[in-house]
Amino acid sequence: NKFEALGLSEAILKAVNEMGFETPSEVQEKAIPILLNEETDIVALAQTGTGKTAAFGFPLIEKVDSESRVTQGLILSPTRELCLQITNELKNYSKFSKGLRTVAIYGGASIHDQAKEIKRGAQIIVATPGRMQDMINRKMVDISNIGYCVLDEADEMLNMGFYEDITAILSHTPDDKSTWLFSATMPREVSTIAKRFMHDPVEITV
Ligand code: AMP
Repeated sequence: NKFEALGLSEAILKAVNEMGFETPSEVQEKAIPILLNEETDIVALAQTGTGKTAAFGFPLIEKVDSESRVTQGLILSPTRELCLQITNELKNYSKFSKGLRTVAIYGGASIHDQAKEIKRGAQIIVATPGRMQDMINRKMVDISNIGYCVLDEADEMLNMGFYEDITAILSHTPDDKSTWLFSATMPREVSTIAKRFMHDPVEITV
């Protein structure tokens, strides 16, 4: 299996095998070794359907400490559907990663139920920006210890008017975290976010 060469753990390789992935996609081949081996920011130009969820999801699962209940990774995504889709994918990827919990946070559903889920412990949170900001304000979630922040479909999030929410959310995260930005296009608003919040990002394009 060609995923072995990327440096992934047995737990992920087992999940990869079970999902029937045979060959890493281009974005996976380019991003995974960098994200596993370097504590760096990254800007990846990649469309939906390229396998980008695993490109950031595999390394994120490898990086978090599943023995700690502290939230260590945050993925921001534009819509509820995408948020649920990413959460579902991450659950499949981490099927054999013992103790790892991924929780979805999005608008249009009970905030109290979501707060309860967070309280049970979630190393990884997948969130839409509006609901995330709401839960931070209500102190239902603590992202002050995250080491990794993924901005997925950054262009879409900015198109939808989430700039203020994103900047507010990022202000609650540590300065020394790594930020992984994925976007299908690179309009000026996305470069602005990258310039303002990222440090010498590695750039990859597929
Ligand atoms: P994404 O671009 O992350 O939304 O992924 C698109 C679809 O491709 C999802 O259903 C994934 O489960 C699947 N997928 C991701 N990586 C691979 C791969 N290397 N081989 C086969 N399927 C994949």
